[in-house]
Amino acid sequence: MPAASNHSPAPSSSLPPAWRIDPVRLRAALVDDARQWQLEIVEETGSTNADLVQACRRTPWAEGDMLQAGMLRLAYRQTAGRGRQGRPWQGQAGMTFSVAMPLALPPARLAGLSLAVGLALADALDDVDARLGKVVGLKWPNDLQIDGRKLAGILIESVPAGPQRVWAVVGIGLNLVRDAAMEAALGRSLAGVTECLDGFDPLHGPTDLLAAVLNRLAGMRTAFLADGFAPMARRWSARDAYRDQPVRLLHDGAVQAEGMARGVDDEGHLLLETASGLQRIASGELSLRPAGEGA
Ligand code: ATP
Repeated sequence: MPAASNHSPAPSSSLPPAWRIDPVRLRAALVDDARQWQLEIVEETGSTNADLVQACRRTPWAEGDMLQAGMLRLAYRQTAGRGRQGRPWQGQAGMTFSVAMPLALPPARLAGLSLAVGLALADALDDVDARLGKVVGLKWPNDLQIDGRKLAGILIESVPAGPQRVWAVVGIGLNLVRDAAMEAALGRSLAGVTECLDGFDPLHGPTDLLAAVLNRLAGMRTAFLADGFAPMARRWSARDAYRDQPVRLLHDGAVQAEGMARGVDDEGHLLLETASGLQRIASGELSLRPAGEGA
């Protein structure tokens, strides 16, 4: 995994040409559980996560066939996309979609889910093209990045449906291109899928990417239901972009802790080696940054 750095070439891509998901190609590429999910693609919405949270509240929990209750909602334009803590997400340079997954688990067993989703997304990019998989790193708890530049953000919201039942609504914003105007507007360097993929096919590429993500999410769901995050922790740490690097953890822009990042434990806590010993940090509202970098 390459070390994260702020050094990056100037963005060269412009916004992608209008792309469309091919529903027939998408269906044909889905395997296992993902084949049974409902697929919904719309032109525009406020937030696909907000839409699915509402849908989950309305959907009765039918024992036995809950697999068919899995839902994808993708919007070509999101007008009120959100990141963690209500931060805005700009989707115009990429794909924005959400997946609602029923999980027959008590809330205490959800630890590590957001890291498991990040790992599944990184694996999906690897499935699409190993050149991409090679450069994509994870930033705790669940960003994907290339050389310290954000490629994708993940927002997970849970909707309780009973004592051992919860819907996980997984929102993903994945930049297809690295867009200079968006970088200027956000004041930070970004990454895009196409920067590593010469000859990315705008016609089929997004559909193939989406299929790979859905297949990996379905596989992650099954594995997570069986064993939780623990068996994934080692692979997550191997993809950790900041492993063995000095980092700081911020809350509302203020530094809460500093130390060396040492990967994650079986519950998805960040292992931070500090002057006073090894700390296990729960994700909560903390943001990880390389040492010396502000909010
Ligand atoms: P954290 O480390 O806490 O995840 P973050 O600042 O990356 O911090 P997120 O909640 O993951 O926060 O994502 C929201 C932030 O992402 C916004 O505040 C904005 O700076 C940035 N952002 C918005 N749209 C995009 C995009 N398309 N690509 C990359 N970054 C974006």
